[in-house]
Amino acid sequence: MAFLNDNYSKLKAGYLFPEIARRVKAFTDSNADAAKRMIRCGIGDVTEPLPEAVRAALHKAVDEMGVRETFKGYGPEQGYEWLRKAIAENDFRAHGIEVADDEIIVSDGTKCDTGNILDILGAKNVIAVTDPVYPVYVDTNVMAGNTGDADARGAYAGLVYLEGNEANGFVPAPPKQHVDVIYLCSPNNPTGAAATRAQLEAWVAYARANGTLILFDAAYETYISEPGIPHSIYEIPGARECAIEFRSYSKSGGFTGVRCGFVVVPKTLLATTASGEKKPLHPLWLRRQTTKFNGVAYIIQRAAEALYSADGKAQVRALVEHYMGNARILRDAAQSVGWKTWGGVNAPYIWVKCPGSLGSWEMFDKMLHEANVVITPGAGFGAGGEGYFRISAFNSRANAEEVGRRIKALKI
Ligand SMILES: *Cc1c(COP(=O)(O)O)cnc(C)c1O
Repeated sequence: MAFLNDNYSKLKAGYLFPEIARRVKAFTDSNADAAKRMIRCGIGDVTEPLPEAVRAALHKAVDEMGVRETFKGYGPEQGYEWLRKAIAENDFRAHGIEVADDEIIVSDGTKCDTGNILDILGAKNVIAVTDPVYPVYVDTNVMAGNTGDADARGAYAGLVYLEGNEANGFVPAPPKQHVDVIYLCSPNNPTGAAATRAQLEAWVAYARANGTLILFDAAYETYISEPGIPHSIYEIPGARECAIEFRSYSKSGGFTGVRCGFVVVPKTLLATTASGEKKPLHPLWLRRQTTKFNGVAYIIQRAAEALYSADGKAQVRALVEHYMGNARILRDAAQSVGWKTWGGVNAPYIWVKCPGSLGSWEMFDKMLHEANVVITPGAGFGAGGEGYFRISAFNSRANAEEVGRRIKALKI
């Protein structure tokens, strides 16, 4: 008899996006005109084509694979040295941040990495997440058996939820209580809020005082436009002793369908063994990856490398400016009808308070039926998201402008 992992039965089975799809289908099935007019500002996926520098690198790498002399089989599981060096130099050392080439571990993306990281952490950790939250952090802890059951609001027993709200600008401060692990995402999905230097300093101070591990998801780092907002947790002195950073090319280079990212695990980062000894986490993550992962495809790593060329950098900048131009249009439209917004300045998401006393699913239905626009109800990101919704700026300019017009025409 094979026993299954009972923790999976605790999951609120893929509730958010299937429910969105169900409501959109039910509406469009009975309304062909609305189906044609429908604009999706829901799922956080990029829409614009891959940068030219990336496509050129891909073509070249594919051709190398077609010649015996330059063909590549298995590569180093942790990534080719030339890519790890390009990352450490361009993303960190060029900004005065101390990160060694071999502290970079290349992967197929941050969703996988933030889930897989639990492999190297013990079972007794008190784990904290912010609420609203990127659901992957929660669900992977449920799967790993780090939680009890969910309550009626969808909150799992055993997890510590730190509420993001209007008072803290959706950047929760460190709690009074002790936690062992905290997931921080800045700039944030879904709220678009970015932590200031002072806020991250408070987190690093808390982590160092409590022996807490910060899991820092910087997937939206390239979208930061305000000076002074940290792009990396390692800009904060002391973070090399308490934080792992996750980065992805999904939103910067438009790699959601290409798949590449990396983790920074400083060799100075220690955690505690069952017997109370302090040991580095770096060798564990390396061991985990070299055992359970066989590396990112050579051609994809060449594509990622191309993002660091002069052309690649300029093309990424243009992509980000395109999406952030959309964000400005959508944010201005929302504000012009009196909606209260957050984000859309350092992140491609606008977080909006539902007007009147509408719940987030009621607002979803209203936008669907009356504006034929798909947004994401805040409640899908945790109890703290109820009463809010997220508009994604990942779209064409024409669609963003049209959504702006429809928001202004909406009767609330
Ligand atoms: C999109 C996103 C990522 C990127 O995940 P990949 O697996 O690299 O595509 C990571 N974290 C958050 C919060 C995101 O929204």
